[in-house]
Amino acid sequence: MKKSFIPAPAVLGMLGGGQLGRYFVMAAHELGYQVWVLDPDQDSPAGLIADRHLCAEYDDSAALAELAAGCAAVTTEFENVPAETLAVLAEQVPVHPSAAAVSVCQDRIAEKTFLKTHGLPHGPFTEINSLDDLRNAPSHLFPGILKAARLGYDGKGQAVVDDRAAAEHAWLALGSVRCILEAKLPLDYEISVVLARGQDGQVRAFPSAENRHRNGILDVSIVPAWGSACLADTAGEVAEKLAACLGYVGTLGVEFFVTRGQLVVNEMAPRPHNSGHYTIDACATNQFQQQVRALCGLPLGDGRAHSTAVMVNLLGDLWFNGAEQREPDWSALLEIPGLCLHLYGKQSPRSGRKMGHFTVVGDDAKQVYERAMKARQTLGLPDA
Ligand code: ADP
Ligand code: MG
Repeated sequence: MKKSFIPAPAVLGMLGGGQLGRYFVMAAHELGYQVWVLDPDQDSPAGLIADRHLCAEYDDSAALAELAAGCAAVTTEFENVPAETLAVLAEQVPVHPSAAAVSVCQDRIAEKTFLKTHGLPHGPFTEINSLDDLRNAPSHLFPGILKAARLGYDGKGQAVVDDRAAAEHAWLALGSVRCILEAKLPLDYEISVVLARGQDGQVRAFPSAENRHRNGILDVSIVPAWGSACLADTAGEVAEKLAACLGYVGTLGVEFFVTRGQLVVNEMAPRPHNSGHYTIDACATNQFQQQVRALCGLPLGDGRAHSTAVMVNLLGDLWFNGAEQREPDWSALLEIPGLCLHLYGKQSPRSGRKMGHFTVVGDDAKQVYERAMKARQTLGLPDA
C-alpha cells in the first residue's frame, strides 16, 4: 500500500478516551499534531487532555461526520468500537487499523479461526451457540474456559468449566450468548509482544514482556521476559507474521501462552497494550508514538529497550481502606530510584479499575525487580 504522509499540525481522530488514548494524545502532541477524541464519558482520561472532546456514543452519526470532516486520519484505542463505525469513517478518511483487522480482534471466534486459517499456533477451541453445542463439544476441551465471544476484558465474561455440566451452567450465566470453549491449558508462563506495523509493511517489535495476572487482570510485566530467550524471539516472529496476515497498520498487542514449552497465541489487541506501557520509560520510541507514526505514514521509530523494566498496574482497590476512600500515599514509592509513576487522571476509583501504573527502569534486571517488589510493599501489595 502507498504511504499517505500526514504532516503536523494536522488533526488526528481517536476513538475511545481511556488511558491508551490519553498516551496517544501525549505522543501526538510531542510530534506537533492535534487530537480529537470521541468518547461518551465526559471525564474520559484522553478527552480531558485532547484538543477537542466529542462527547458522544461511538455510533452517533453526527459525531462521526464531524470527526471525519475534521480529522486527517482516525485510529482507535479499544477493540469494541463497532466495526460499522470504522467502516463508515473509512469511506471519508484514512482509518488505521482497518475495520477488517479490528473485527477479527473483537470476536474471539473470528480471532481463533483466523489463527487456524493462517497456520499460527493456537489452542484447541470450538464455537458454542446452544446447549446442544456444549453437549456435543469434544471431551478434550474439558476442563476448559468458556468465554463470551465479544466484549470480554480483564477476565470478565469468562468462566473456568471443569466439565460439561459446569459449562452448561456457565453458558446460561453468561446470558446464553455466542461463546468460545477453549481447553484450559497448563500455563508455564505468559508473554506478550507489542509491535508496530507501518503502511509500507515495515515492522518494529518491542522486546517481549513476561506477564503475571491477578484476578484475571494484568498485574506485572517484566522486560526482558524471564523465560527462554528463544521462545521470546519466536513470539516476535509469530506476532510479525500475524500482523502481516491481518494487513495491520498501527500498534498491535499479541498475548501468548507458553504451555509445556510450546508457544500459542492467546489473543490480539488492535491497539497499544497494557503490557507495552513499559515502553514509555524504557524505549527510545514508545508504543503510542509508534501508533502516531504508523497512522501518519512516518518512518517507525527504534523499538529497542535502553533499560530493563518492571511495570506494575495500580488498580482502584488501592484507593480504599475498607469503605473509606483516600489517595494512596505515593511518597515512599517516589523515593525509589528508577521508579516512574503514571496516573491516568480518573475521577472515580473502583475495584479492578486501572488508575495508573509504575515502571521501574535500570540496567540490572534483578535490582529493578527487587525495587519494583519494594515499591509494591510500600503500597501493601503482595509480591508478584
Ligand atoms: P481477557 O480479554 O480478559 O484478557 P484472556 O483470554 O486473555 O481474556 O484471558 C485472561 C487470562 O485468563 C489469561 O491471561 C490467562 O491467564 C487465563 N486464560 C485464558 N484462557 C486460557 C486458557 N485457554 N487456558 C489457560 N488459561 C487461560
Ligand atoms: Mg488477555
